[in-house]
Amino acid sequence: MVMGDLVNEVDVAVVGGGPGGYSAAFRCAELGLETVVVDAGKRLGGACLYEGCIPSKALLHVAAVMHEVERAKEFGLDYGDPRLSLDPLRKWKSERVVGKLARGLAAVAKSKGVEVIGGRAVFEDSRSLRVEGDEPQKVRFKHAVIATGSLPSPLPGVAIHSDRLMDSTAALELPDVPENLLVIGGGYIGLELGTVYAALGSRVTLVEMTDGLLPGVDRDLVQPLARRVEKLFAAVHLKTRVTSLREAAGRVEAQWEGVGAQSFDRVLVAVGRQAQSAGFGLENTRVKAGERGFIQADERGRTGDPHIYAVGDVTGEPMLAHRAMRQGKVVGEVIAGRPSAFDNAAVPAVVFTDPEVAWCGLMEAEAQRAGRAVKVAKFQWAASGRAATLGRSDGVTKLVADAETGRILGVGLVGPGAGELIAEGALAVETAALAEDLAVTIHAHPTLSESLMEAAESLLH
Ligand code: FAD
Ligand code: NAD
Repeated sequence: MVMGDLVNEVDVAVVGGGPGGYSAAFRCAELGLETVVVDAGKRLGGACLYEGCIPSKALLHVAAVMHEVERAKEFGLDYGDPRLSLDPLRKWKSERVVGKLARGLAAVAKSKGVEVIGGRAVFEDSRSLRVEGDEPQKVRFKHAVIATGSLPSPLPGVAIHSDRLMDSTAALELPDVPENLLVIGGGYIGLELGTVYAALGSRVTLVEMTDGLLPGVDRDLVQPLARRVEKLFAAVHLKTRVTSLREAAGRVEAQWEGVGAQSFDRVLVAVGRQAQSAGFGLENTRVKAGERGFIQADERGRTGDPHIYAVGDVTGEPMLAHRAMRQGKVVGEVIAGRPSAFDNAAVPAVVFTDPEVAWCGLMEAEAQRAGRAVKVAKFQWAASGRAATLGRSDGVTKLVADAETGRILGVGLVGPGAGELIAEGALAVETAALAEDLAVTIHAHPTLSESLMEAAESLLH
């Protein structure tokens, strides 16, 4: 028998080993189902671990340390000018951070009896797929879970092949610290990686096509970040679209509306991500991909094919790892016959910039658009003792509550540590807490979490 003739018969075949895929696989295995994961890289972690959440947050931690050291000069602590060595930084990120977590995931898979098969899965029909690559084989399954994730979107209408043009994956490799970096896109990635490169010493110019950073996010939350970015970056051009890029004399010349042409050592394109739903045989199944290639799946992860489920970025927005993980767990339980559903009221979102921006549930502008009667509380961190001790009074905590019942419907935060504080907001929204519940819960003093209590108290007046 040649390897290609190998047929693996399993209960569940998961395609893609990212947060959605491994969460589904682990839950299936815990519930007694024989489960394999087919991953193109023969590894668990996906975009999140290798080219997303984890390496970007490792580098943002470095940026935060540098900013703290700079701020320390205010209270008389001067470490002198920082000296950065890229090789140890790359090694720390790849081995001590990413490598450590990768080994942890592999160990969990082993302990749960989940086999990871290396190669590209291609569906042959609704009950089988073939694996192409180093470990060719056929997998026959009772159920499959598609968790193939997403890929960076290219810049529309601008054709250029240059290694000076980076997507987020290339930028996270830290090829060098360019003197001048153009960032196209003022969303999550443009702001996070722009912050990293600015801290490392690049002069960052950011171009965003809409009239504000982080389009769609509450403006009260974005404003403090926008003020900081104005100082941190060399320039921010809003309502601006790059019309052409060309490589000339070892640099990239960018042309954009209104401003003219300017040359950069490197360009980071961060204009969104697109579903990875083509080229692996979905046409041989009853799975349907809709708008922007996203696979249509319901709250139980069921697609148009009764044997096939889908989770994570490939199913649409918000493309966040924790949403993928929750969906993965739900699908594992649904396949095992449990009555689970992805019916969460809040999917928290965090932009890990300085200050951090975090929100969940219903935001003020959405409530207004929907004509919903709400009460809104805003607590400025200028009145927070903890913020003062940190030298950071630029934060805001915002609550949106039902006007009649006082039920917390949405929470927004901007400030250092907002990404951790939003957990209380998510819990409040998910458990239908009332403003009174937050107001009478004792929050330790002095902490930034008191801002949630203070905001809630103001809703009771
Ligand atoms: P992915 O993680 O994309 O995994 C898909 C896997 O499927 C990959 O391993 C791929 O190789 C494999 N695959 C694809 N097709 C096939 C096939 N046919 N056969 C076999 N294998 C296949 N989210 C957050 O929540 N917090 C963050 O801080 C955060 N930061 C980010 C920073 C960056 C720079 C980027 C790019 C993303 C970030 N995200 C963050 C988003 C997060 O990475 C994704 O939401 C998450 O990885 C989605 O998980 P997934 O399981 O759907 O897919
Ligand atoms: P994004 O959707 O967050 O932002 C893209 C930005 O590019 C938008 O502001 C958009 O208006 C702008 N844009 C689009 N076309 C443009 C053009 N031609 N010229 C100038 N600006 C243009 O996308 P992203 O930053 O690429 O990130 C992709 C996704 O990855 C995010 O939506 C998020 O789901 C995920 N992500 C999450 C985190 C996190 O959770 N902290 C971090 C990074 C990425």
